[in-house]
Amino acid sequence: MFSFDNSYARLPEVFHRPAKPAAARAPRLIRFNHDLAHRLGLNLAGVDEARLAQVFAGQVIPLGAEPLAQAYAGHQFGQFNPQLGDGRALLLGEVVPGQGQRFDIQLKGSGPTAFSRRGDGMAALGPVLREYIVSEAFAALGVPATRALAAVSTGEQVVRETMMPGAVFTRVAASHIRVGTFQFFAAEGDAEAVKTLADYVIDRHYPEARATDRPYATMLSLISERQAKLVARWLSIGFIHGVMNTDNMAVSGETIDFGPCAFLDEYDPRKVFSSIDQRGRYAYSNQPGIAQWNIARLAECLLPLMDPDEDRAVEAANGVLKDFGEVFQAEWLTLFGQKLGLSGEASEGDRALISDLLELMHKGEADFTLTFRALGKLAGGADAAPFVALFSSRNGLDDWLARWRARISEGRAPSEVQAAMKMVNPALIARNHRIEEAIAAAVYGDFSFFHRLVDALATPYVEDPETGYLRVPPAPDERVTRTFCGT
Ligand code: AMP
Ligand code: MG
Repeated sequence: MFSFDNSYARLPEVFHRPAKPAAARAPRLIRFNHDLAHRLGLNLAGVDEARLAQVFAGQVIPLGAEPLAQAYAGHQFGQFNPQLGDGRALLLGEVVPGQGQRFDIQLKGSGPTAFSRRGDGMAALGPVLREYIVSEAFAALGVPATRALAAVSTGEQVVRETMMPGAVFTRVAASHIRVGTFQFFAAEGDAEAVKTLADYVIDRHYPEARATDRPYATMLSLISERQAKLVARWLSIGFIHGVMNTDNMAVSGETIDFGPCAFLDEYDPRKVFSSIDQRGRYAYSNQPGIAQWNIARLAECLLPLMDPDEDRAVEAANGVLKDFGEVFQAEWLTLFGQKLGLSGEASEGDRALISDLLELMHKGEADFTLTFRALGKLAGGADAAPFVALFSSRNGLDDWLARWRARISEGRAPSEVQAAMKMVNPALIARNHRIEEAIAAAVYGDFSFFHRLVDALATPYVEDPETGYLRVPPAPDERVTRTFCGT
């Protein structure tokens, strides 16, 4: 089924522990991503649903798999924990479709490992469905993120606040190496392992760093750049990761481990959903600063490798951190400039136009997604009423619209601006209340909401009349105010 080539398993023993999936009584396939399977080059000839359920519940170990749990550490809400690791996940193996990129195939929720500590190693159905929905929503939006290959219910019960159905999520990632993976070895003072890991990361993700004077400094800079751009993408779609601990930041630049994540409905830069984020450390607008903080933690691990001269190493690291801010700012300006339909490169002068809209949206409690979508229609000459109706207070809106109209009329025809805005401003995002609705129904055995939601999110820029209800913000009684990791 898979043609595995397990490079991580070939790394020294300190990197991983052997792992074995737990028994599952009655695996049932919830959803399988055939499209992704095809792209990964999986051979599914003669493989039926029952077999897929067995494999993706960890009950049949496919030929060539070498299941292992990865070691990592991490700063959780600012506190360093030297021992985390895959406590409820295992890496089945890696596939290398064609001559191309390498992908990890990971089972999440498949039972305890050497790193489970007090956890049970299991996943409840809710978090599995949430991760499936959001992963595939990201894929359709073109935001780098881990992918969903399969969701399987196990027939087991897991103990959370109440008993919940158990499930296993199969995740596909460019790799599962985290900032925390470097921290694990750095904290142990194992300089050799840090170097082995850095070499591995360069070979796998940043081969262009190899040819530079200071490959490890270049690697840090490339990782930092990808993170800066990634966080700008999150902000551009109203995404809040929820738990940006250093163990939840992948060095590949993919969004990962977004357990309690949520998309904004009404715009509020200080918005926090996660029940465990009591001080708002990971609030919407804190995300760039936190990503930069995480990169600083990575830099600390790499200093000895970056330059034999300590001062020069520190200087290089500081340069990377400064660049992070600049790359983020530039990317943010580009993305929001596109969202506003500004022709050409958005300039520094456009920053105020963008920020002023966001401020009006905040004051007017305007829905983030719908506002940009409606603005796109205005660009094409539509009546302003539906746009204005999104704001609870229209104070300042007319002035802003006049400034915006003057700016977008530079260079491009209205229909062109409208078409361009339609391609960058999604009509549909994975709204929290729809995710919760899909999960609640699934817990009672009805997966139709889940499937409809995943299907619709595959075309987020299309306003399909049949899925109009998925685009509507929550009514007061549907609002989700708290999200949970569900661990
Ligand atoms: P996460 O919520 O994915 O960021 O997980 C943080 C840490 O807790 C990681 O080391 C996980 O492997 C571990 N963990 C989370 N849930 C469980 C669980 N149910 N059983 C064992 N370990 C867990
Ligand atoms: Mg994690």
